[in-house]
Amino acid sequence: MPENTPAVTEEHLVHLTWEAIERGATSSAIISSDKIEVKEALAALCNGEYRCPNYGLAAGCPPYVGGPAEFKKWQANSQYSITVKIEIPTSVMFSSDRNEVMQLLHQVVSAVEQKAIETGFTQSKGFAGGSCKNLFCADHISCAVLKEDKPCRHITVARPSMSGFGIDVSLLMKASGWSAEIANKSTLSESDNMSWVAGLILLA
Ligand code: SF4
Repeated sequence: MPENTPAVTEEHLVHLTWEAIERGATSSAIISSDKIEVKEALAALCNGEYRCPNYGLAAGCPPYVGGPAEFKKWQANSQYSITVKIEIPTSVMFSSDRNEVMQLLHQVVSAVEQKAIETGFTQSKGFAGGSCKNLFCADHISCAVLKEDKPCRHITVARPSMSGFGIDVSLLMKASGWSAEIANKSTLSESDNMSWVAGLILLA
């Protein structure tokens, strides 16, 4: 067992999944942290052939995060993790409401992280999706952390994206017992088609 793991009961972990649901997640699961896989090739996609338009714009995105190597150090001190999933109609995923869903994901992840810290997992870390620059600081020219040497303007809610750490989200979904099928625009016409966004809280 990692040395930082506090005395933990299944009840503690279940309460963290309840917190996720209360905050707006559709589902939440407890997984063994060693089931999480990170890959350099996935992290490299942020600045790959298709360069993310938010690359380099926020402290929570590459190249300002430690990537897979840093994640593995944190992972070595974590026995359990909480995963969260928000299901949404695919039509919403590809609409102007997408940002609201991504903001909710950050809210859920940060709330579970805070609850975990209160529970005794004081080194817990939350990971969401999408760029916090785009989601929370779109009205600012630049990231306060990177350009003004100030604390994050949204420190209580904005969390780094799983992408920048190379987290294999498909495997994360499978480890949680969920389908990893990803929606695409070609399925928009199917009225009942659902999509999802996911996040992770590494407990330590
Ligand atoms: S200040 Fe804005 S862009 Fe910078 S890390 Fe915080 S939320 Fe992200």
